[in-house]
Amino acid sequence: MPDPLTPEQRHYCMSRIHSRNTKPELKVRQWLWMRGYRYRLNVRSVPGKPDVVMRRYRTAIFVNGCFWHGHDGCDKFSMPKSNVEFWQAKINRNRERDQQNYQILQQNGWQVIVVWECQLTPARFEHTMWEVEILLNRNFLAINNKLRTYALPDEEPMPIAAEPETKYGE
Ligand SMILES: [Zn+2]
Repeated sequence: MPDPLTPEQRHYCMSRIHSRNTKPELKVRQWLWMRGYRYRLNVRSVPGKPDVVMRRYRTAIFVNGCFWHGHDGCDKFSMPKSNVEFWQAKINRNRERDQQNYQILQQNGWQVIVVWECQLTPARFEHTMWEVEILLNRNFLAINNKLRTYALPDEEPMPIAAEPETKYGE
C-alpha cells in the first residue's frame, strides 16, 4: 500500500486537510493523493461527474453534501422551515438523479463509493478514509483476480495434527 511520507510529513498533511475551509471533496482528494493514489477529477463522460475517478480501481467516489443530496437520518440534513415543498421536491430530484447515476456505473462494472460530508469531520475523517481504502483495495484485488479462495482437496482428508497439550503460560 503506497504511503511515501514520513510521519512528520503525514502529520503536516493531515493538519492541512483538517483546516476549516477545506471543501469536503478536497479533503478526500488530498488524503488519497498523500497516500499515493492517483485519480482523475470530475470526468464529464462518467455519469454524475464523480468527485474522484480511479480507473485502476474501477471506482467512482462521490463526496456528497448532506443537505443537497438528502442524507437520510443525518443531523446536517434538516428541512428548512419555509418552502418545505420546494426543498423537498428539489432534494428528492437530486436523490433520484444520484441513484440513477450510481446504477449506470454499477451496471458497467464500477464500484461506487459515496462519502457523506458528515463523515469527514475531524473526529470521523480517518476512520472514513480507512474504510474507503479498504473498498478500493478490495475492488482492485477482485478485478485483477487476486482474490481466490482455497479449496481443500476432497480425496485425502487433511490430517489434523494433534497438538501437544500445554498449560497456559508455558
Ligand atoms: Zn450526513
